[in-house]
Amino acid sequence: MKEMKWFVLFAALMLGGCAQAPPEQQTINDAASALGGRDKILAVKTLIIEGGGTNGNLGQDVTPEATSQTFTVTDYKRAVDLAAGRARVEQTRTPNFTFFQGQQAQKQVFGIDGEVAYNIGANGTANRAPNPVATDRRMEIYHHPLTLVRAALDPNAKLSNPRTDGGQSVVDITTANNLKFTLAIDSTTKLPARVVSMTDNTNLGDVAVETTFADYQDVSGLRLPTRLTTKTDKYPTAEVRVAKQSIDGDAGDLAAPAAAASAAPIAGPPPPNVAVQEVAKGIWHLAGQSHHSVLVEFSDHLTLIETPQNDIRALAVIAKARELRPNKPLTHVINSHHHFDHSGGLRAAVSEGLTIITQSGAAPFYQEAVSRPHTIAPDALAKNPKPLKIETVNDEMVLKDATMTVNLYHISGNPHADTLLMAYFPRERILVEADVFNPGAPVSPYAPNLMENIRKHKLQIDRIVPLHATIAPYSDLLKVVSTRTSD
Ligand SMILES: [Zn+2]
Ligand SMILES: [Zn+2]
Repeated sequence: MKEMKWFVLFAALMLGGCAQAPPEQQTINDAASALGGRDKILAVKTLIIEGGGTNGNLGQDVTPEATSQTFTVTDYKRAVDLAAGRARVEQTRTPNFTFFQGQQAQKQVFGIDGEVAYNIGANGTANRAPNPVATDRRMEIYHHPLTLVRAALDPNAKLSNPRTDGGQSVVDITTANNLKFTLAIDSTTKLPARVVSMTDNTNLGDVAVETTFADYQDVSGLRLPTRLTTKTDKYPTAEVRVAKQSIDGDAGDLAAPAAAASAAPIAGPPPPNVAVQEVAKGIWHLAGQSHHSVLVEFSDHLTLIETPQNDIRALAVIAKARELRPNKPLTHVINSHHHFDHSGGLRAAVSEGLTIITQSGAAPFYQEAVSRPHTIAPDALAKNPKPLKIETVNDEMVLKDATMTVNLYHISGNPHADTLLMAYFPRERILVEADVFNPGAPVSPYAPNLMENIRKHKLQIDRIVPLHATIAPYSDLLKVVSTRTSD
């Protein structure tokens, strides 16, 4: 009798132990129950979300810290095929700020199908997107409670590091396809509150992408959020307000278009091509692709205007500068403004020992940018750390020696950015600028302010040497500005 009692007690303890899952599993079980139950979640085939919201303007706002520029998003539709790992987004974006492409609405269609990310242009042409974009879009599929909890229920998923953070239970998830997320669920409602994943950003380095979920509603026996807010690092990048959503509705054909699916994978930026054009004695336009630089020769050193985009472009431009004048040290780079596509090569420039000359409004951002960790995709500076050397320009600065004079001016009051510098060569009557006048562009919303700044400083210009597009006579700028004022 005595043994029997012990056996019953032992069996009861065992059962109790089995019913109580480990805490990391319990968090997922709780989330699954709150969302409508494990079986319902695992049975879902497609999710279709429709609504609207906003997109941010990451890396392209008026100051490095600003977040006021947004695109209003309408006709948003996100269709996800959960089992196939496919998703497609269609949306229309309208800028609420002075946009370089003009103020008209733009339709966007983009998606992910397994390893293939693609964008579909306005003319219906599909292009394969580079592999880092594909990785980000594969991750984005799981920035939703349904897809992430479903992935966490997969027996091949790994759950770890259970913890509490404020009023949330938090667990790390490595999905069966080896993507890593952190999920936080509300300790009271057990509903997923947010998901975080890490990615590489050329300018910011290792960044957390966090999507917060709110305003849950019932949809076909499941609970789904109707407000999804995403930020990259500290910058808001998207808010979706769901007007309508459905489970297992007709998602349409979410396969990658043939043109994208059959295209070779794109590992990263295209190989650099630096086309050299001598503009005047001691001044070269380094073009060849989308973003240009200008090399300036002083009597005993060289200075670059702009190391744009990324390591690949910046290091190619730096190498070309050294090749053109091998007997003079390249010592400085002048940065046109803080926008990520124009400042994306500054870390490479620092790794090459160059001193950055920038408008003072951008300096704190670069001070932070050179110290940020780049462990996910180590760049030139991560591999070869160097201290930042920086000189700032408030309104103007003159760089002058026996053979060369360059005047740098802050382009003040321009809606494109508050940190813009233009470079004026008084002897050669040349102006170098970025973005505020792109010769040949269909619209030039920033040109009138550029003209105001040119007049303020009484600059005598024959040629514009732009950091996009091709060299143009000054009369082209005058024409664009007079056309605009007579409109
Ligand atoms: Zn810009
Ligand atoms: Zn630009």
